[in-house]
This record gives sequence, structure tokens and C-alpha cells, in this order.
Amino acid sequence: VVIGEHRHTQVTVDLQAIKHNVEMEMARKDPLTELWAVVKANGYGHGILQVAQAAKQAGATGFCVAILDEALALRAAGFTEPILVLGITEPEYAPLIAEQRISVAVGSLDWLQTAEKILTANATPDPIHVHLALDTGMGRIGFQTPADLARTVTWLRAHTAQFDFEGIFTHFATADQSDDTYFTHQVNQWKRLIAAVGELPRYVHVSNSATSLWHQACNGNVVRFGVALYGLNPSGTALAAPYELAPALSLTAQLSFVKRLAKGQSVSYGATYTADRAEWVGTVPIGYADGYERRLQGFHVLVNGQYCEVIGRVCMDQLMVRLPAQVAVGTQVTLIGRDGDHEITLQDVADYCGTIHYEIACGLAPRVPRIYQ
Ligand code: PLP
Repeated sequence: VVIGEHRHTQVTVDLQAIKHNVEMEMARKDPLTELWAVVKANGYGHGILQVAQAAKQAGATGFCVAILDEALALRAAGFTEPILVLGITEPEYAPLIAEQRISVAVGSLDWLQTAEKILTANATPDPIHVHLALDTGMGRIGFQTPADLARTVTWLRAHTAQFDFEGIFTHFATADQSDDTYFTHQVNQWKRLIAAVGELPRYVHVSNSATSLWHQACNGNVVRFGVALYGLNPSGTALAAPYELAPALSLTAQLSFVKRLAKGQSVSYGATYTADRAEWVGTVPIGYADGYERRLQGFHVLVNGQYCEVIGRVCMDQLMVRLPAQVAVGTQVTLIGRDGDHEITLQDVADYCGTIHYEIACGLAPRVPRIYQ
């Protein structure tokens, strides 16, 4: 990956905001419940290692990631806390998982039996830390019936040399909605399944950010704290968070070119924008290759605290904005964040694109350098 170190376009991540969000949740939750920071997808685009470090300083005692490589990156950086891979990891990596003390989500007895053969063939000395995934209605991974689960638990307990049955968990599909009908259905499924386990393992967890914020009574002894860690409301704007979340990310650039456009002149591919009077236009060195989506034509940025429309099509690496007056090349442009009295949030960008802030944050390309403050 080539990072744009010599271009004035950057994501700035406020690590104090990350710490604030973790500390607020730490103060709110049951003291015996741990907070594990979800730092998958490069910390939702914010930077996995920096976010993990800030979350740890604020009290996080473990981490969740999506894929094995993210877990290995944390270990290589020296994190010794539990790290849980939330997706299914290929059993062929069983020896590496064991050696690196990674915890993995397991959703079938087949997976365990395949991994057991590989561990035995490799004479791997350490056990794999297993968190059984229960599918209570998310429909993604996990055990669906008490019979399958009970058979697997019995098998696991007979293979303690290869496996440490460390955790059990589920994931809610609608914890961020005001209607809790489906949430309650999942809670009932959870209770039905968990009854088949007997003695529970050390870590029992069901809560993403939304569950911990709005259904705290359900929390087990670990919260998998994701999007709220970054200061984003998991529900978008549907539900109010119990405390003020501090957004950590801003996206800024500097005008690379400024010109006066005569009436009738057009801007960008397809000539979809034509000036109906003389106006000042600035060029911003960012485009859809940076994760600033093409769909953002017609949206706005902030220059000198004022909203400026994105005119014409967003190009791969540049876009144009209409300026209220002549401003100097090098003037700061805020694409996400606060400038003066106004703020453009990830939520605003997501609303304009018809998506959720999660997608915009983790879609910001690695080409854009991340600066920490
Ligand atoms: N737990 C699981 C299993 C997940 O897949 C995710 C993320 O999608 C999370 C927790 C964190 O969710 P959130 O970012 O909404 O807090």
C-alpha cells in the first residue's frame, strides 16, 4: 500500500475521544463485566494498534477482531490480552492459533474435529481457546439447536489437551432498534440454548455496543464494545445514547487549486455541473479512491467554517467545491469534522450516501494517512 504522506489530505484520530468513550462505558457497566475493544477492519478505519492501545489505557482488557491476521497483528505489536476472532477461522491454521494464544469463534463440531486432527498431526503442545458461537437469530454463524450444542460441549470436555472451552457467545441483530420484539426472541433462544451447556465457561458474552448501551441487563461478563468506542451511535439517530459519545475521526485536506469559473463553464466528468453565474471553485485532493464516495456529488464540505457544495462528479483522486469567495490555495477543507460553528459527521455522510457510518469509516482507504492526537 502506498500512503499519501506528501499530500495534504489526512484522517485525524483523537485518541482522547476513544479513551473518553471507553471510560464512560467502563463507569456505566457492572464492574465485574470486562470491556473488550472491537478493533477489526483496522479499528473501523481508525487504526488498529493505536485504537487498541488507547482502549487498553482506558480499561479494555481484551480485543475482538474479524480475521486471524488482525489478531496476529495485535500479538506482533506486543498485546498480551485475550484476542477473539469473531468470524470463522480456517482450521488449517490451528497450530498457529494455539501457539499465538488466539481465541476463536467455533460454530460446529466438524470444525473442532478437523482442528483436532491437525493439532495432533503437528504435535502442537498448546490448546486452542474456543468460544462457542450460538446462532440465536443473527443467522450468520453458530449452533442453532440444544442437541448440537450439547454434543459439542461433551466432545470439547473430552479433549482438554487440544481445546480450552473458554467462552460462549451470541450476537444480536436488532439491539439498535426501538422495537425489541426480535431482540426478546433472541434472548429467549439464548436461554434455551445455554441451558444445554451445563457449567458455563469463563467468558459469557452477548453484547455489542447497542446491547450494552440499551439492554445492559443482558450483558454477560464481557462486552464486545465496537462502534461506540469510536464515538458513533450504533443506532444512527434512532435511539439516544445514555451519555455523550465523542466522535474520534475527522477528515481534512487543503485546497490544491482555486479558480474563477465563468458563467456557462462546466466541471468534472460528464460535464454534469455548469455554472449559471461566475463563481469561485476550489479543487480538493481527495476522491473515491480515498473512500470519499462518488455518490457524494451535491454534498458539502466546510471551508473557513462555511458549507461549500461538492460540484460535478467526484473523481478518483480529486473533487471540486463551490467557494463563497476567493480563498487561498492551501486553505483547510473539512470533509468530516468540525470547523467553526458547523460540523459534518460520519452520520451526515452516511445519510447522504444511503448507508451507515460503519461503512463510511472503514471505507476510508489506507492511502489516506492517519494522524493521532
Ligand atoms: N460482536 C460481533 C460478533 C460483531 O460482529 C461486531 C461487529 O460487527 C461487534 C460485536 C461490535 O459491534 P458494534 O460495532 O455494533 O459495537
